[in-house]
Amino acid sequence: MFKKILVANRGEIALRIQRACSELGIKAVMVYSEADREAKYVKLAEEAVCIGPAPSSQSYLNMPAIISAAEVTDSEAIHPGYGFLSENANFAERVEQSGFQFIGPSPESIRIMGDKVSAKQAMIKAGVPCVPGSDGELSDDANANKRIARAIGYPVIIKAAGGGGGRGMRVVHTEAALVNAIQMTKAEAGAAFNNPAVYMEKFLQNPRHIEIQILADKHKNAVYLGERDCSMQRRHQKVIEESPAPGIPRKLIEKIGERCTAACKKIGYRGAGTFEFLYENGEFYFIEMNTRVQVEHPVTEFTTGIDIVKTQIMVAAGERLPFTQRQIEMRGHAIECRINAEDPYKFVPSPGRITMWHPPGGPGVRVDSHVYTNYFVPPNYDSMIGKIIVYGDTREQAMARMRTALNETVIEGIQTNIALHRELMVDAKFMGGGTNIHYLEEWLAAHKR
Ligand code: ADP
Repeated sequence: MFKKILVANRGEIALRIQRACSELGIKAVMVYSEADREAKYVKLAEEAVCIGPAPSSQSYLNMPAIISAAEVTDSEAIHPGYGFLSENANFAERVEQSGFQFIGPSPESIRIMGDKVSAKQAMIKAGVPCVPGSDGELSDDANANKRIARAIGYPVIIKAAGGGGGRGMRVVHTEAALVNAIQMTKAEAGAAFNNPAVYMEKFLQNPRHIEIQILADKHKNAVYLGERDCSMQRRHQKVIEESPAPGIPRKLIEKIGERCTAACKKIGYRGAGTFEFLYENGEFYFIEMNTRVQVEHPVTEFTTGIDIVKTQIMVAAGERLPFTQRQIEMRGHAIECRINAEDPYKFVPSPGRITMWHPPGGPGVRVDSHVYTNYFVPPNYDSMIGKIIVYGDTREQAMARMRTALNETVIEGIQTNIALHRELMVDAKFMGGGTNIHYLEEWLAAHKR
């Protein structure tokens, strides 16, 4: 096992990884930008290294600064968390070339999955069902593209191969709009992702977002830890996540889970990963794979009792998965609300000093957050300041616990989206379960203020 790990991230996930290291008896070296000097995990750290000024381009995305922080502290491995450099194949490669273990899959796996066209091709080869679409990247041949769209059937969606964060997508309803839409998406993708390649998919009208969590070791073992329903999204960004997904037969989850683990074995995947699917009319359609730990991993930790971050570290050190698929049992129901520093209805970020922080507690309540009373939320990063996760024997009990937890929470000095979560937890449709990816946007439009 490692003796020392460098945590190359910030915020709640940095604290989460620090906690996992502490439980494993591993020293965690924390890095921080000048704006994050006051973060809880920096204060708790035995060792912390400043890696640059506030802008992430000069700190959390600064590869040489991070690698030299690992060198000067004699760290053996680097945990990238999520976001920032976590899905950057060049970073993973540089980490390994510098003699450190990257806590994640191989640079090659990251590269294949980072390009959505090659990811889809790998999945088709591995027998994972995908959204019907073009056979790879679209050419400039307008007539050929029209033929592809006709074969798929309108509406179609044009997506950037290098896209991410919900950007680089355009829905097309008619043939008249197709050629122009392809050109525009290409131009945008070239500018935003440095890769103009685009592909075409059938646009599913009312799908749910269902994802499968997997864990794999370096000895060709892979397991799935059930699913998460992340359909409550705003601008393709997740707001509430839960497990299990209401109303989906276990047999279907098992079938798709087995496909995912088979694909992992086939491509030699190691570490934690998530297969994201759209689910419509009883069918799963792969859209992309995330090759890192995800924000919403705690709901799965509640329902399986497995510590995903600790397991990531153990398999990176070469250990075997300590459980088989048969030993993994899903129990109860878990829900996560992402707590953002923002106006709850206008979504304008609300950084600043937290004058009062009173998190909820009690049975089955978990709060992952790096903030505290008198902490200053810097304006430089994502607005998420933490997550409230609850567990219950049933979905109803979990919802009741979440309502209690949200009512107990007091955050003063900044605005947060707690008020929005309180309303959603008593919304009849959401309480019924199984809402699709458009539901939250429709709800927001109907509750404009
Ligand atoms: P990103 O990497 O930017 O998150 P994804 O491919 O994961 O992009 O898609 C993000 C979201 O966009 C999905 O959760 C879904 O809401 C929507 N989406 C993507 N592809 C399709 C599709 N073929 N049909 C309908 N919605 C889609």
